[in-house]
Amino acid sequence: MRISKIDLYLVRMKLVSPFETSFGVETHRETVIVRIEEERGEVGWGEAPIMEGPWYSYETSQTAWHVLKDFITPSLVGEEVEGPGGFWEGIGKRVRGHNIAKAGVDKALWDLKARLMGESLSKLIGGVRDEIYSGISIGIKKNIKELLKTVERRLEEGYRRIKLKIRPGWDVGVLREVRKEFPHIPLQVDANAAYTLDDYLLLRKLDQFDLLMIEQPLDEDDLADHSQLARKISTPICLDESIKTIYDVKAAYLLGSCEIINLKPSRVGGITKGLEIHDLCLRLGIPIWIGGMLETGIGRGFLVAMATLPGVKFPNDISASSRYFKEDIVEPEWCLNPDGTISVPKAPGIGVEVKEEMLERVSIKRERIG
Ligand SMILES: [Mg+2]
Repeated sequence: MRISKIDLYLVRMKLVSPFETSFGVETHRETVIVRIEEERGEVGWGEAPIMEGPWYSYETSQTAWHVLKDFITPSLVGEEVEGPGGFWEGIGKRVRGHNIAKAGVDKALWDLKARLMGESLSKLIGGVRDEIYSGISIGIKKNIKELLKTVERRLEEGYRRIKLKIRPGWDVGVLREVRKEFPHIPLQVDANAAYTLDDYLLLRKLDQFDLLMIEQPLDEDDLADHSQLARKISTPICLDESIKTIYDVKAAYLLGSCEIINLKPSRVGGITKGLEIHDLCLRLGIPIWIGGMLETGIGRGFLVAMATLPGVKFPNDISASSRYFKEDIVEPEWCLNPDGTISVPKAPGIGVEVKEEMLERVSIKRERIG
């Protein structure tokens, strides 16, 4: 495909309610939307779901903007690009790191490829499901009463599995109360690297709550300590932030650092790299599930497609549009079915259309390359 122009939008959207993790509180979502148009006028959409500051990774909305505008997109516009694969053989390989920024372009090229072929993205990447299981991630609350109320509401909405964010001081006591109230629900926790190996006795206390997994208990770069911790607790360890490349999966597997992986496509560079990791995990027998990064409806479409893959064995952190935004920038919006699933669109590409007028309205910066 020959790319004729690329548009970048820096979007800022207010979240329905503030989202608190061990990194801090987010009240707005800044994200970079990528629109790629090829010479015949077909368009693909992508999203780099970045954070404003370098809290989740070293990337920020400003670094993503810089890398996309000044390095990546100029080398694609006017060129013949062999789809997402061609991107990774060229500028995608030359630029070091910046996975989230690259994911924006990789996704847009996948959406474009699928639309040109008239196929749904899910089908194109080998998806095997018509609907995906949806769990929900609940941030740290002001008090336990508020948390219990939120869990109850989310269960009523139909979510299949509850994930609670934990951090020192908001862990064992909180879990005890939640388990007392909801003894049988599928439950897991996410520490976002808030502990150290010295906390193993405390983390061992979580074993009594029959959790599906504990996500990223220790530092993201410390596969060695995760391997030690895995021998000290019985709750399965799921790695999230640690998995930035396929090489991290190989190391984690050989060290025994985890039993499960939360694959966030944007963190590893998008769909191409996400598929490589999925295939490796399937071969190694590591179950995965798909995690979100507070994407708009555009990014959500890619999460849904990835969650249809055969190696996905747990409910995913992919919720309805309304959980984050009053109004989403796509139609139809992503909805939760009463049985806690999300239906996989059959239309070409990600299967939803972008509301371009709204996109202009919520954009705080815009750039056209080409
Ligand atoms: Mg996580």
